[in-house]
Amino acid sequence: MMQRRHLLRGTGSLGLLALAGCASDTGAMLTSTAGGRVPAKTRVLVVGGGYGGATAAKYVRLFSGQQIDVTLIEPNEAFVSCPISNLVLGGSKTLADITTPYTSLSRNHGVRVIKDMVASIDPVKKVAVLASGPSIAYDKLILSPGVDLMWDSIAGSRAANGEGRILQAWQAGPETLALRRQLEAMPDGGVYAITIPEAPYRCPPGPYERACQVASYFKAAKPKSKVLILDANQDVTSKGPLFKKVWAEQYKGIVEYRSQHKATAVDAKTGTVKFEIQDDVKADVLNVLPTMRAGAIAVQTGLANANARWCNVNYLSFESTVAKDIHVLGDSIQVAPGMPKSGHMANSHAKVAAAAIVAELSGWEINPAPMLTNTCYSFTDAKNVIHVASVHEYVAAEKTFKTVAGSGGVSAAPTELEGNYAWNWARTIWADALA
Ligand SMILES: Cc1cc2nc3c(=O)[nH]c(=O)nc-3n(C[C@H](O)[C@H](O)[C@H](O)COP(=O)(O)OP(=O)(O)OC[C@H]3O[C@@H](n4cnc5c(N)ncnc54)[C@H](O)[C@@H]3O)c2cc1C
Repeated sequence: MMQRRHLLRGTGSLGLLALAGCASDTGAMLTSTAGGRVPAKTRVLVVGGGYGGATAAKYVRLFSGQQIDVTLIEPNEAFVSCPISNLVLGGSKTLADITTPYTSLSRNHGVRVIKDMVASIDPVKKVAVLASGPSIAYDKLILSPGVDLMWDSIAGSRAANGEGRILQAWQAGPETLALRRQLEAMPDGGVYAITIPEAPYRCPPGPYERACQVASYFKAAKPKSKVLILDANQDVTSKGPLFKKVWAEQYKGIVEYRSQHKATAVDAKTGTVKFEIQDDVKADVLNVLPTMRAGAIAVQTGLANANARWCNVNYLSFESTVAKDIHVLGDSIQVAPGMPKSGHMANSHAKVAAAAIVAELSGWEINPAPMLTNTCYSFTDAKNVIHVASVHEYVAAEKTFKTVAGSGGVSAAPTELEGNYAWNWARTIWADALA
């Protein structure tokens, strides 16, 4: 027992090892020493092939020595990364640069990838029904469906999106390109405005990075234009002093930041956004981000039991607190203190959950002290980058994760060196999840 406990306790740091390129070594270590007792034909169904789901699918295969049957359901043909997608808006990268196929997950790891949507889940019968009709039974279900936009939080936003007039592009893909085209079509001297919902939302620094990318494009191509950041929060929610310095120095006269601007409605015809308290704002390109909640399938299955928005989980295994054998990862969960909704964090959740699931199905003890890591890089132009990093440990007495005192930190200033780190982070995490 001690040996097993020791092996699984190591899983918290697997995130770091795997991101450093040792994924198969660590998986082999776990399985060759302690594996081989998963009941035959055990089925894990993964819903959503993003940062959480793709990583979990691969690591359940690795940690079980390929003994657990893993099926991944994802509607998109390929994985398109939200991290780095702001550079597509800035014009220095293309969608192809942030796209990875799912083929290696099947070829290298034996994950069965089905291009479909899960339309419903029956947690009692332990069956998921696909949008195309068939049902799939599971022993364990891993749910990582990302976020759902709460359109009703901003009146008129759903219709404006449907007409293609006011976009969000908070899921990288065709909308990212459509928003880029709006920026290209905007005359010099125009205004781009982004509204930010109250935290928590997907990727705390993401909107501020986006503002930098649009400003970088304007500075080079449309120098009379402006970027307005209309933030529902009291202040910049991530890397505040760093972003503010960049706006004041590098984008002086282009970027303007306004806090406590909670958007309530849009009028696409006049390009107007209304706020709870502040005056209306007009812009040529409006990029309005509604309040967010757990992915629709999680809400619909009744798993969003934290304020009807996010899914409470047992942080040792990421099992839902309302549905046995359903493990929720990534942006959909109710976060622990200091835990951001990020791709890196979803990847970390996935490894802890995969290890716990394999342990549980094999009759081993679940790691009682998992750890998580996070790093979020933000590009302030095409090359220079700032980061925030943290390490999170499970605190058994409080049944939650807490940031390890003194861990991580933030950059001193944007540098090209960190730009290299950011690209290496992206390539490594894409390979960690998908190769
Ligand atoms: C502009 C931007 C920049 C960002 N930058 C960073 C960054 O630099 N670093 C960082 O760490 N994070 C960053 N993030 C955040 C990161 O993208 C998310 O935190 C991460 O994607 C969360 O992973 P996830 O698995 O929860 O969701 P996702 O990665 O969104 O995956 C969810 C998947 O589930 C699928 N799905 C949904 N419903 C169903 C269903 N019913 N059936 C089947 N499949 C379904 C979707 O198609 C999707 O592929 C950024 C986000 C944005 C928007």
